[in-house]
Amino acid sequence: MDAPAPMTKKARGRLFFANPGPTNIPDSILHAIGHVAVDFHDPDFMKMYDECWEGVLRVMKTRQTMFMYTGSGHAAWEAALVNTLSAGDTVLIPETGAFSASWGTMATDLSLVVQTVACDWRQGVEMSAITAALKADTAGKIKAVCAVQNETSTGMHLPIDQVRAAMDAAGHKALLMVDTISSLGCMDLRMDEWKLDVVVGGSQKGLMLPTGMAFTGVSEKAMKAAETSNLPKHYLNWRAMAARKQRSFIGTVPTNQFYGLRESIRLIEEEGLENVFARHTRLARAVRACVRHWSGNNGPQLFCANPSRESDSVTAVLMPEGFDAEVIRKTTMQRFNVSLGGGLAKLNGRVFRIGHLGDLNEPMILGTLAAVEMALKINGVPHAPGGVAAAMASLTADA
Ligand code: PLP
Repeated sequence: MDAPAPMTKKARGRLFFANPGPTNIPDSILHAIGHVAVDFHDPDFMKMYDECWEGVLRVMKTRQTMFMYTGSGHAAWEAALVNTLSAGDTVLIPETGAFSASWGTMATDLSLVVQTVACDWRQGVEMSAITAALKADTAGKIKAVCAVQNETSTGMHLPIDQVRAAMDAAGHKALLMVDTISSLGCMDLRMDEWKLDVVVGGSQKGLMLPTGMAFTGVSEKAMKAAETSNLPKHYLNWRAMAARKQRSFIGTVPTNQFYGLRESIRLIEEEGLENVFARHTRLARAVRACVRHWSGNNGPQLFCANPSRESDSVTAVLMPEGFDAEVIRKTTMQRFNVSLGGGLAKLNGRVFRIGHLGDLNEPMILGTLAAVEMALKINGVPHAPGGVAAAMASLTADA
């Protein structure tokens, strides 16, 4: 008998989506978005809009202001820079992975000067290096520190309260801008308590929405900087937005996204924000327990080599020398209908990434890990079998 044809997109059963963004969209959000078109000036819509606005402020833990954009996270990255800075200003970027590097490339393209704090991507940046760079800036050229709370490319977390402390230790006045694109609604973030000036977020990860909306929490200090910033801007101009009834959106408001956003905030607050964080931590620990187990027999290992920087929303898995991570992704997708993230920039082919953020529970994580373990076996990648059992042990450790 002929071997069965390899499965293609027609595979039965639900797609297990373990990409680190976009993420699974809960059915109730999908239903909420399927709304008829409404006038975005309509008072009922505006009431809901205001509720969404307040909800995002609660997730960011701020009582300051916020702007929203029809765009992906890149729009919020760009808004943060063009509204607060002027041509030739220096930004200090802890270069912890592909996303912090890309934010830096954007800054260079926008005629800013980029100074990086380099580090070993598997260790993460040292706080003392941030303090030292700021202390050395006696001329006050550095106007902003741009930090990525969760480096989605490496599966590493940067403790933002410690970045704040490192800046305070240098007594430097730079703005602190934080990319929370893969951490907002997944791990703790305290915009006001940690004195963050711009918080950059997107819709398609912890908020469980489709891609296409982005946010910037903005401090009073950052709003003040916007008065003198001279970089060109129009669609992303905060001062023009602030003058509008919607306090955002130069142009048509993406109304359907707001029905989804209202449901996203309802879901998060029904579970409880702190419980959402705890669930992310629990699932992340199980994934890491599994990968640590696989690493026996010279198997794949955690890319993150610094346990204090492990991420609760994504785990990057480093393949043993000579084995291609893309082969594993292809097998999980084609054989098991499980979608994983690939390695970015210099990590392409060397890592695959398991997203564990957003609308996920234990069986979904275990199903994904089982598919990966089968893919390792099918492709002859050395590993210690039994990683899924290690994940189950982690998930029941407190039982
Ligand atoms: N920053 C981080 C940490 C990200 O993970 C991403 C996307 O995955 C971005 C920025 C870019 O956001 P977007 O792709 O929504 O434009």
